[in-house]
Amino acid sequence: MKPLREAQREVIAGVHLMGTERVRIEDALDRVLAEPAVAPGPIPPFPNSAMDGFAVRAADVATTPVTLQVNEDVPAGTVPTMVVEPGTATRIMTGAPMPGGADCVVPVEDTEDGTNNSVTIVSGVPLGTHIRPAGGDISEGEVVVQPGTRLSARNLGSLASIGVAPVVSRQPVVALMSTGDEVVEYTTRDLGPGKIRDTNRVVLRGVLDDLRLPYVDLGIIGDDVEELREAYMHASDVGDAIVSTGGVSMGDFDFVKQILRESGSVEFWKVAMQPGKPFAFGHVKGVPLFGLPGNPVSTFVSFEQFVRPALLAMMGATKLLRPQIPGVMGEDVVTNDEKDVFIRVMLAPDVDGSFVAVKAGGQGSNILSALANSDAFAAVPVGVGSLSAGDAVKLEMFTWGENRGLDD
Ligand code: AMP
Ligand code: MG
Repeated sequence: MKPLREAQREVIAGVHLMGTERVRIEDALDRVLAEPAVAPGPIPPFPNSAMDGFAVRAADVATTPVTLQVNEDVPAGTVPTMVVEPGTATRIMTGAPMPGGADCVVPVEDTEDGTNNSVTIVSGVPLGTHIRPAGGDISEGEVVVQPGTRLSARNLGSLASIGVAPVVSRQPVVALMSTGDEVVEYTTRDLGPGKIRDTNRVVLRGVLDDLRLPYVDLGIIGDDVEELREAYMHASDVGDAIVSTGGVSMGDFDFVKQILRESGSVEFWKVAMQPGKPFAFGHVKGVPLFGLPGNPVSTFVSFEQFVRPALLAMMGATKLLRPQIPGVMGEDVVTNDEKDVFIRVMLAPDVDGSFVAVKAGGQGSNILSALANSDAFAAVPVGVGSLSAGDAVKLEMFTWGENRGLDD
């Protein structure tokens, strides 16, 4: 069996980087930045007030109460016209530029009897208080977002603040298909004998939507050489990556090899992981092909461990793997010590706030309901064959954004 991390490395090494394009900020959510986003100027661009209040000279308010003459009102979006001379104050709103001469802002709460002409300061503030300096958020020339970052709404805010449209990687189009003579459309009301509804394509479309990636759904392909050959050829024409489910077990080995003999290559792996041991990886006319096992839980786990990281790598993302956080096993479990086992678990907070994991249901690779009910995987590594209630366990948070590279 191939160790999981080794298999992941081979897959990542076997995919290519997409090209780049500049997109509008509003189209950039979840895209991966390809070139550093550099600030053309400082943010904030000018020193401004952090409070609604009065811009004054700190020396004037060292002893309070003190009554100062009011120069003018400066709402946000306007500019001061007067310098704050000794004995005077300028009424200022949050975000408005600081007037010359002033070196601090007294919040309105610390004043009394403010009129158009005068204000009484009841408690002073030290020099520099409540002033946001120019460049306090971002300095000129600073790299605001690093290449390889998958852009969050917060990153888009930073890009908007510097007015820079990001250069991002093109999105790989994923061609997806389910295979199997027993598989019928999930819309089928009355299942014929021996037939099952196609759940894999529904899950795959969902996880691709999650990645905000475009896909071409090629539907259900029967276990037929010609049908499969045609589907793989078509997939390699329309997709930058091909994801199929089913047909990767030992019995199917030669069948698919034969199909791809002239136009590609594929290897069948036994990955030391559970679920998801059988996995096929190859290329059809240069387009990477991910052959996921047909069992629905295996499909999801294999997508998580191989396809999602590979698609992120194709976009140049630096973080490819989901966060693993420390947790506590809430019950005894026995696992295969030759494999990385991903137990589908539900999480509950312990008295100390740590997560306690209990099985979300049956652990067969066909038990989709347990996966659907789960919050995370309890990741039990190779070499560990059992855990007792109360033992530490790593929780792989498959609903959280990636935070690790392959070497972390
Ligand atoms: P296979 O990998 O083709 O040997 O399939 C393994 C198991 O997964 C079999 O029980 C299949 O019936 C089931 N299976 C395959 N494809 C799907 C699918 N698209 N949706 C649900 N179950 C599937
Ligand atoms: Mg099959």
